[in-house]
Order: sequence, then C-alpha cells, then structure tokens
Amino acid sequence: MNISVYKPSLNGNEKKYVNDCLDTTWISSKGKYNDMFAERFSEYIGTQYGTTVTNGTLALHLALLALGVGEGDEVIVPSFTYIASANAVKYTGADVVFVDSLEDSWQMAPDDVERKITKNTKAIMPVHLYGHPCDMDAIMAIARRHDVFVIEDCAEAIGSEYNGKKVGSFGDIAAFSFFGNKTITCGEGGMVLTNNKTLFERVVHIKGQGLATHREYWHDIVGYNYRMTNIAAAIGLAQLEQIDKFIDRKMQIAALYTDKLYGLPVTVHKSVGNVKHTYWMVSISCQNIEDRDSLRNYLKENGIETRPTFYPIHTMPMYSHKYQSHPVAEKLGWSGINLPSYPDLKDSEIDYVCECIKKYFS
Ligand SMILES: *Cc1c(COP(=O)(O)O)cnc(C)c1O
Repeated sequence: MNISVYKPSLNGNEKKYVNDCLDTTWISSKGKYNDMFAERFSEYIGTQYGTTVTNGTLALHLALLALGVGEGDEVIVPSFTYIASANAVKYTGADVVFVDSLEDSWQMAPDDVERKITKNTKAIMPVHLYGHPCDMDAIMAIARRHDVFVIEDCAEAIGSEYNGKKVGSFGDIAAFSFFGNKTITCGEGGMVLTNNKTLFERVVHIKGQGLATHREYWHDIVGYNYRMTNIAAAIGLAQLEQIDKFIDRKMQIAALYTDKLYGLPVTVHKSVGNVKHTYWMVSISCQNIEDRDSLRNYLKENGIETRPTFYPIHTMPMYSHKYQSHPVAEKLGWSGINLPSYPDLKDSEIDYVCECIKKYFS
C-alpha cells in the first residue's frame, strides 16, 4: 500500500484547455481562460466580481491592500491556521492579533474576536479551516458593531456553505487558493472575490503594476505583478467544471472515516450548525496528545502518508514575542492529523487506513 495524503484529480478538460493555450500561443497572463475562470468562479460562489491572481497568499495580500490595511493597523486572525493567513497581514506592515478557536468546529472563536478588538483594529480575517465555515453571523455582527472590515480566507473551503450561502460571499472581500492540494487546483493560483466594485477595481489596479486606466505605461501607484497565467486559468476552469463531483466525494470520504473510526480515542472533525462542511482534509484529533506522532509513524510504516494539523502560529518564532496562551489552538495543533482526503481515494483504501488506526489502538 502507498496512499498519499493528497493528489489532484485531473481527468476533465485540463489537457484540452492547456493544449489550446499552447496551440494559440496565449500562454501568458492575457487570454480568454483568465476571464472565463474569474467570471465562472465568482458566479459559482455568488459574488459580483472576481479576479485571478498568482496564488492564495497573494490573494490575501491584495485583499488587505485594497482595504487600505497598513502600518499602525491591527488585523484579527486565528492562531490555528496556515501560515499564509498571518504572513499576508505582516506584508502590509499591520500587526497580527491572534484569537483562539472553538473546540467543536475548530474555527475562529467569536467571543475572543470581540475581546481583541481595539481602536486600531482594521479588519477581521475568518479562515474557514479544513472546509468548515466560521460562525459568520457572529463575526459579521461584531464587524458591524465595531465598524471593521471582514476578509474571508476561503483557501480551504471552496464551495462550503453557511446558512445555505457559500463562504466568500459574506465579508467585504474574500481570497481563495488553487494550490495543488486544494479542492480545485491550477497548480499554483488564487482568486479575489468581492461584491464591492471599488474594491475590485483596486485589486485589479494593484495586481497589474499600478497601471493607470487612461494612459499606456503610466503607473500611478507602486503596484505588483500578481497575475495568473492563462495556462493556470485553463486548468482552473477545467477543474471548476468538476467541482460538484469533487465535493460530493470529499463529503462521502468524511462520512466513511467518521463511521469506521467510531468508538476509537480520536475525534473526527465534525460539522457544527447549519453548514455544508466540504472536508478539504478529513482531520482527526487524538484524545491523548502523545498518540499523535506515534500514530502518524505507525501509519507511515504501513504506507499511509498523513499531515499534522497546523501548529498554532502564535507559538512560531516570528509571532511569539507577545506570547499569550490560546489553549484550544494549542490542543488542536498538537493532537491533530489530516488523513488522506483526495477525491480519487478508493473506499478500499479508506478501509485500510481505518483498519491500521484500529490496529494502532488495539
Ligand atoms: C493554502 C492556503 C493559503 C495560501 O494559498 P497558496 O495558494 O498556497 O499561497 C492561505 N490560507 C490558507 C488557510 C490555506 O490553506
């Protein structure tokens, strides 16, 4: 057995669309696939505007820049997330303020967000981690009460829903990632979505070197080159055509793991509230933290690749100068395992993974 934790499924029109880019020589960032991918993706999520970018980290950076986040500002970010959520804030010169997570859903804790608001808070960044939506009613209410922006980090939650609405359509602006292991992929890629025309225009302006609208080669701000290639967008479009199938299978995989791991001293990440949890990565938390690394080793010896859940960022060297305890983030970061979760995973492989976990505990 040799089961990897993730691999993309590329069985649709990926080859056809990429070959079209090559045949027509539209291989750089101009070309129809960029526009088509942005348009269809924003339509899928349910926002008015969308634009493709180089990757998810830079999608977050652009979203923050478009909101005017910079030095002297604070942005509230969960500690239990991927490093890019915090780093994107750091790039702007703003300070990252960490909050703890909820024990049941593993998402940003709204009461901690409320506690961490100061006069310098400019934005809140809910991260819909591992495919589970954050408590958006609570977070949007806090944002409105304190008049701060909301940037959704949807990198791990493409197609996830909260109260019947897709994540990425709640806040002021949202960022998505299409890295090779995300629910749909471009290889490397990202997207910024918003319902606000001004924010959208600012994102396009900044990502295209700050090019002025009415004069060629005239730049009126210091911008960046954060553009996606037409080739990457071609892959993204082909992936988007298959998204319902991917998400259905991921939810099925989660249900199989949940069923087969019942009764063992691990907790499978569950869905809490009126949400559609798309299970980017099916994750378990070991009831005894000491089991985490030895269980991972045991699975590795049996040909099964896993990943540890994210280490809480507030404990990493560049973010720990003002250490404050975040007990739930710390527990989840040190007890969690991401199990093989890619859409082409077979039922028999899930059986095998669960049998191995059972054997470890017996
Ligand atoms: C993957 C990911 C990102 C960054 O996306 P890249 O495309 O890898 O730059 C940001 N936030 C979260 C939560 C992610 O999982």
